[in-house]
Amino acid sequence: MRILCIGILLFFTSVSALAQAMTLSVDATDAARNMIHSKLAIPVRPGPLTLFYPKWIPGEHSPTGPINDLVGLKLSAGGKSIAWRRDDVEMFAFHCDIPPGVTVLDVTFDDLSQPESTASAKLARIKWNRLLVYVQGMSSDAISVKASLKLPAGWHFASALPVAGERNDELQFKEVSLTQLVDSPVIIGSNFRKLSLSSNGPMHELDIMADTTAALELKPETLTGLRSMVQEAYALFGARHYRSYQFLVTLSDHGGSEGLEHHESSEDGVGEKAFTEELELLDFAELMGHEYAHSWNGKYRRPAGLATPDFDQPMKGELLWVYEGLTQYLGKVLPARSGLWSAEDFREAMAAVAAEMENQSGRQWRPLVDTAIDVQWSYPSPRAWMNYRRRVDYYDEGSLIWLDADLLIRTRSNGKLSLDDFCKRFHGGQDTAPMVKPYTFDDIINTLNEVTPYDWRSFLNARVNAVAPHAPLAAITNGGWKLVYTDKPNTEVRIADHARKSVDLSYSVGMLLKEDGSVMDVNPDLAAFKAGIAPGMKIISVNGRTWSTDVVHEAIASSRTSTAPIEFVVENGSFQETYKVNYHGGERYPHLERDSTKPDILGQVIKSRAR
Ligand SMILES: [Zn+2]
Repeated sequence: MRILCIGILLFFTSVSALAQAMTLSVDATDAARNMIHSKLAIPVRPGPLTLFYPKWIPGEHSPTGPINDLVGLKLSAGGKSIAWRRDDVEMFAFHCDIPPGVTVLDVTFDDLSQPESTASAKLARIKWNRLLVYVQGMSSDAISVKASLKLPAGWHFASALPVAGERNDELQFKEVSLTQLVDSPVIIGSNFRKLSLSSNGPMHELDIMADTTAALELKPETLTGLRSMVQEAYALFGARHYRSYQFLVTLSDHGGSEGLEHHESSEDGVGEKAFTEELELLDFAELMGHEYAHSWNGKYRRPAGLATPDFDQPMKGELLWVYEGLTQYLGKVLPARSGLWSAEDFREAMAAVAAEMENQSGRQWRPLVDTAIDVQWSYPSPRAWMNYRRRVDYYDEGSLIWLDADLLIRTRSNGKLSLDDFCKRFHGGQDTAPMVKPYTFDDIINTLNEVTPYDWRSFLNARVNAVAPHAPLAAITNGGWKLVYTDKPNTEVRIADHARKSVDLSYSVGMLLKEDGSVMDVNPDLAAFKAGIAPGMKIISVNGRTWSTDVVHEAIASSRTSTAPIEFVVENGSFQETYKVNYHGGERYPHLERDSTKPDILGQVIKSRAR
């Protein structure tokens, strides 16, 4: 069941017109070659018809349906080929003319994914939206689909999609709406492990596919932490809006990274060593918390502009600072409350967020809401000049705003209430099966006021809708902590450097570099940019020594006691030039330092609610 303002009329006309389900037969036996074969039988009536390939993908907030990956499209009926023509303007639409007497249209095509994006040699993520077309003009709730999936020999599967039968590596799923199908991906692979995350109530499961059997081993404390997280989320929201929940985890260095929310599952694609490597495990815990919180904040409660009735109508991202920002905040709170993170891990994460947002030069020209409205271009926008562009800040700055709101509620209610009370009112209520309850900016204000009367409209307008020269750092100071910089590396910065093989010098000379010395980004307000360095250049030596990560760290560290500028020899295309960076601050990384004049409210935020 979905609650939508639009699409009601479509729902009734469509059901009476085409009550029959379409069938989708997917052959994934070539998954390891990044090729998946799709065959559809679509109920139709004679006359002009437009088929649509899913374009606006829920959770991606953008027209990211990989239309370039659809190849080999053929239409036929009763064995006779039917011609098609792509729309001249809308590249995702295919027009055809159904001959008299035809009631079923056969459609075949192949889905070719980019290598290392959805599959490795040993596992794959099956995303149904990549594997189908539907009759344009019908709501995705009104279309019924009977899907089947043929697996590579000996491979296993996991999905929230209900299974009707299984025979000889072929799965037949129960008939569901197109909405539910697209919301229920399948992970498949040759190495599989399934672990229960709850002993009573609805089923919660950790399903893992990995490139090797060794990668499937996880520490007992990780499992205990994930089980606690299921309890903590229930204690936080007070109700669930799913029948069961599955974390669909793929562990591979070649299967692509992923984090995509669904009502009753999440796709969590991480590296092969995510359970064993210390930094990757911390990152994994946050991914689990983030995608799980989305079942409530994003899938159940969804901004009205993102609650579209099909996959062809554009989405509006203006409230993504709630959809992603609040989720980003809860994605840090939940691992800390569950013991997957220590209190120090939580503080390091908030310090990194606060420092990064405060040092975004792009915040001088665009309000936070503009990064959300711009979502269809902000994800694919280049990394070069990211600090000046201000890319998807609705995530991290959103998390600071919600921490700020949390502390305000706690302070004004003398510790009796918190953002948990907002979440219970907004996302809780009765336990239900998956449904969508859209909301507006006013609904947010009203619920905040029900929890704690305050001028929330001005509070949010100042932080979201106006250009704000500074990040909302009151979120840190009101919590009893101070943002400070020391020469000790920050844990979150280390996690990011490990993941992208980078050297983050954002808070010293103002550069983000690849491990080979390539400049990924510069901060236009800091020393490296002022000396003339820009993204796209490559550092080949520092203070007369050949580039290495050790050499650059050493040069930054010794700048504190030197009066001479740091000398960078830089390659720009086929030319070399020397840049003198006038910097003397040593290594600088953000941390939180306790302010003993104030109560430690940040510590209260991450206290377990379930234990
Ligand atoms: Zn998210």
